[in-house]
Amino acid sequence: MLEQYKQRYIGKNIQFIFTDSEGVVQESDYAIFTIEKGAHITEAHLFFECISSVARATENEFLFNCVHLAIGEREYIVDIKMVKEETGILIVIFDLTEHYNEYQMVAQARNESIIRSELVAIKNKELEEREKFKDRFIQNFSHELRNPLTSILAMNNVLANTPLNPEQKQILDFLKESNNNLRLMLEDVLSLSMMSAGKLDLQNKLFGLARLFDLLRFTYEAKAKLKGISFTMELDGRMPSYVEGDRLRLYQVLTNLLDNAIKVTAQGKVQLKVSLNQKWANKVNLRFEVSDTGPGIAQENLTLIFDSFSRVENSTKIQGRGLGLTIVRGLLELMGSEIKVQSSEGKGSTFYFDISLKYPLRAVQEEKAQKKLKKGATTKKYAKKKGKYKLLLVEDDEVVQMALFKSLIDTQRFYIDLAEDGAEVLEMVINNEYDVVVLDAILPNISGDHITRLIRELPFKKVNKIPIIGITAHLFDNNVEKCRAAGMNDILIKPFEITTLLDAIDRHLR
Ligand code: ADP
Repeated sequence: MLEQYKQRYIGKNIQFIFTDSEGVVQESDYAIFTIEKGAHITEAHLFFECISSVARATENEFLFNCVHLAIGEREYIVDIKMVKEETGILIVIFDLTEHYNEYQMVAQARNESIIRSELVAIKNKELEEREKFKDRFIQNFSHELRNPLTSILAMNNVLANTPLNPEQKQILDFLKESNNNLRLMLEDVLSLSMMSAGKLDLQNKLFGLARLFDLLRFTYEAKAKLKGISFTMELDGRMPSYVEGDRLRLYQVLTNLLDNAIKVTAQGKVQLKVSLNQKWANKVNLRFEVSDTGPGIAQENLTLIFDSFSRVENSTKIQGRGLGLTIVRGLLELMGSEIKVQSSEGKGSTFYFDISLKYPLRAVQEEKAQKKLKKGATTKKYAKKKGKYKLLLVEDDEVVQMALFKSLIDTQRFYIDLAEDGAEVLEMVINNEYDVVVLDAILPNISGDHITRLIRELPFKKVNKIPIIGITAHLFDNNVEKCRAAGMNDILIKPFEITTLLDAIDRHLR
């Protein structure tokens, strides 16, 4: 029974041919192709020309894999075995066309999928590299911008303190405003890049809401007045006095929204309303609303305005950077909140968000916080020593150095020595009794944090405690933390107003 079934399969795909040592066919079956007895095997296919070499070879058996034989209309893919026997050569042809085709298809699919996955990997790598490049570019670019901005700010101040006619004064004001816009833009781009790189961490500190609102009231009443509109604030009396959170970032969100509102409103009013949604034992949920009576936003633009650099057409007359709302959205996301907007064209808009903040459980803690704040405020009222101070200014950028030098010298409070190279600093500090050192964090040869560490390790008491105010344009790679850890007393980020530097110097003067 089995034999009967086996016959169906056996021999179907294998052909046996026996030739003499010259390749003349002695006998053949016809499983694959026909060839007559007495014909030369090359008449079936020229591949068999190799039979003469086989006959002469010293080995007895040869296997040829994956041979393509086009015979008649058909193409076979076969393995061919040639075995030298005493009286001639046995040729066994295995028809593996189906097998090889399938194999080829599988291999091709495999190759394609390898290529596809390699393409995806290449694309991912390219994207990654592009992101990295973008981040690096923004970092370096911002670094490059900070020095000229610092010089412009300082020079502006120097000029402002010289006798100027009204026109010159006005020009100077314009310059100052443009520089300020440029500085804000730089901060915006940096905030965005830090957010997208996941490098922006929120602070979680106790702060007084009243002080934050006072500052906003003071700033926006003045801005509104300038535009001839009104600014009002409506604050829920049930809010706790102190909350825990990132005061600066909350301030950044609110000022972005308020600046927009003031900017677009030609008449009417801008309002900041804060209400209490819910209060738990140690947590509140507050709603912040900024509304204006400006032109409103068309329905189709309501989602668009949150994209980077997007500005709505009718607003081209109004100056803007197109980043404010993107930053607002990003910051609120980090705070676990979401910015929403309601607007009707011609009537005005309301931007609002809800935010949960912890607050101290006991009133005592609030008192403590209040004391701490007060203390912080009074330390600012530092005692001023009579006479001039000796100051060492270390800055390698010539223009910044000159601008800072000029601004500091104009105060008539300092004798100033200058250094550009970190290597000189140590010697100068040891040989001169400076009251304060203003030190750029990135210098040729040696970094500011390294110099600071060396100064702090000096065995001379008068020298190793010297106040060091770091100034830096480089916010990345933990530069600020490194400087602080090395022992700098304060670190200012370029660009800064000269008054900020003077305040810092006064805070730490011996
Ligand atoms: P910028 O104000 O710097 O252009 P924003 O991201 O803050 O950038 O705002 C994007 C756009 O959204 C603005 O250009 C303006 O068209 C629109 N917009 C923002 N706030 C308001 C508002 N209160 N009323 C009307 N349009 C607004």
